[in-house]
Amino acid sequence: MSKIIIAIDGFSSSGKSTMARSLAKRIGYVYVDSGAMYRAVTLYALNNGIASVENGVDAGALVRVLPNIEISFLPAGEDGVQHTLLNGVDVEREIRDMRVSSLVSPVAAIPEVRKHLTRLQQEYGRQKGIVMDGRDIGTTVFPDAEMKVFVNASPEVRARRRVLELEQKGSRVDYEDVLKNIRERDHIDTTRKESPLCRAADAYLLDNDKMTIPEQMDWLVNLYQKIAGSEN
Ligand code: C5P
Repeated sequence: MSKIIIAIDGFSSSGKSTMARSLAKRIGYVYVDSGAMYRAVTLYALNNGIASVENGVDAGALVRVLPNIEISFLPAGEDGVQHTLLNGVDVEREIRDMRVSSLVSPVAAIPEVRKHLTRLQQEYGRQKGIVMDGRDIGTTVFPDAEMKVFVNASPEVRARRRVLELEQKGSRVDYEDVLKNIRERDHIDTTRKESPLCRAADAYLLDNDKMTIPEQMDWLVNLYQKIAGSEN
């Protein structure tokens, strides 16, 4: 089968990363978590006094230091998770904390940040054989992707999943705080001027409120086989 590009977009905590990662593993593709790249830029801003939870983000200062920010990924290890490196340091855990989550959407709304990360993401797709998940992958990063999926679930279901995920990683979080953060991110992500989150006209909709992970995987693998098979 010829290699294709698979773009998986959707709302925060809709489960798209889990599915994208599992799909990539199953079919031998490279997986790229584009949200982790926005999170790494946000962490850099926090660590360098360019952003704070109290005062928000200094967009001008962040744009000036963008060339100093290097993001890469370590292939999945024993934990099955791909680790994100920020200037060579493993920040996989830090980029998932609430401090970063509360500032990542304003950072991701800065046009220059988007342009910079979009270019890096397009580099990853040169050889095809890639599954990338995010908010604008099927619309802006890879508008010609052969397979596009848009994942959705209700904010309450997504908040419950996120609480569980953070608890499994040892973090204690409040459900109401997580739900509030998810609603805020949905709002910023769907209403920003630059590449807002929306379903590409040619994206397949996966509404996974009531689907188990194995059911979602079957749905994705069937779709992949149908599309990649017809590309030959
Ligand atoms: O996917 P995840 O929830 O980790 O993404 C974190 C944030 O990064 C999103 O809420 C969104 O603001 C931003 N993002 C984006 N475009 C992408 C991926 C993520 O704007 N392609």
